Amino acid sequence: MLFNEPSPLETKVLTRRFGLPNSDTVDSFLANEGFAAFRKAVTMTPEAIIDEVKKSNLRGRGGAGFPTGMKWGFVPRNSPKPKYIVVNADESEPGTCKDRLLMQYDPLQLIEGMMISALAVGAKRGYIYIRGEYRYLIDIMDRAIADAYAKGWLGQNIQGTGFDFDVFTHTGAGAYECGEESALLESLEGKRGVPRIRPPFPAVAGLWRCPTVLNNVETFASVPSILLMGGEAWANLGSPRNGGTRLFCISGHVNKPGVYELPMGFNLMRMINEVAGGMKGGRHLKAVIPGGSSCPILKAEECDIAMDFDALKAVNSMLGSGGVVVMDETTDMVKVALRIMRFYQHESCGWCIPCREGTLWLKKILTRVEAGMGQRNDPALLHELANNMLGRTFCPLGDAAAMPTISIVEKFRDEFDDYIRRSPMASVAEAETEVPVGV
Ligand code: SF4
Repeated sequence: MLFNEPSPLETKVLTRRFGLPNSDTVDSFLANEGFAAFRKAVTMTPEAIIDEVKKSNLRGRGGAGFPTGMKWGFVPRNSPKPKYIVVNADESEPGTCKDRLLMQYDPLQLIEGMMISALAVGAKRGYIYIRGEYRYLIDIMDRAIADAYAKGWLGQNIQGTGFDFDVFTHTGAGAYECGEESALLESLEGKRGVPRIRPPFPAVAGLWRCPTVLNNVETFASVPSILLMGGEAWANLGSPRNGGTRLFCISGHVNKPGVYELPMGFNLMRMINEVAGGMKGGRHLKAVIPGGSSCPILKAEECDIAMDFDALKAVNSMLGSGGVVVMDETTDMVKVALRIMRFYQHESCGWCIPCREGTLWLKKILTRVEAGMGQRNDPALLHELANNMLGRTFCPLGDAAAMPTISIVEKFRDEFDDYIRRSPMASVAEAETEVPVGV
């Protein structure tokens, strides 16, 4: 059974095989265009493969939106070191649940994408780093990998092409931080998952300090269709500079929450009203988190917008990982800010002070506001604290925690003031008391 009913407005490219029986078997995959893109790629030069990916305007689907072809082009061709392909399957951004479907319903598409990437950069070994909570997916991926070995689609001299490629799964321990690429590599090497200081970037010094292509599941899964359709045709599915389709995970107060494959640049209001069946209970839209919890929030009046990296950047938000969280008029934004901060404070690895201390204090202040004990200066204090974290941390988690707080305080300041007006501490200025420890 599929995760949700498909919508007729979807453009099914990556999800076209979803729902086919025995989709984790090579036989089913081969019967439905499987490995056709790989067969094409083995006839191409590495440069031609990378050019095709560049033409497609594929941008990393993990959140950052970096151009994939350019990233592959950074791998030094003449390095004597082994090269690696690493899949970031550590999907843990709140609101995001699409990589799991790509692995569940079409695991061999991901493997084919890795193989094409390996041909492009000269790698012979790949790892799929899967978050520990996705235990059932590790079994699915392992079954698909075993079948690919048994039928000669992985291992030595694949299908007589002379190309060797091995794939392994690796289980993470459920740390959000390991979704950050350098922390993921540390963890994959068996160490504590904390970020590395960069540069050098993984393309030059990645796994075991060797050149490494590291992309998200959806990014690799997009590559076979790019090779089959041609880069330009794939680019034209989306909007300028934002090629192709992507999987949007629509959750919250809509009638039909689910994961939908839509062209890049699809309008957010249409996504809510036409794809996800409109607002639940006929209530009004209040706000949307457009790309996972780390993205600055949009007010209802900002939601008539193309969902691509550039359009969202222009309104100081982000497309992120495609997790669209829809909130109606009954939503309490102080509680939303607190819920988000509890997550980031828990997930901070603690390495750098602005993130470790900043998330803790943001959580404490939000907790006292929500508990009805807020003080007069608390909204300003939250804003200042979060602003002081921005750009001052080793990895993007610090920004990820600060940005939603800043946007919620700025856009829904009246709700914070309402809480504080009712607080017996309302007349107390921040300098007069300390934030209570342990709240
Ligand atoms: Fe760790 Fe947070 Fe610093 Fe990232 S920003 S390294 S998660 S403490």
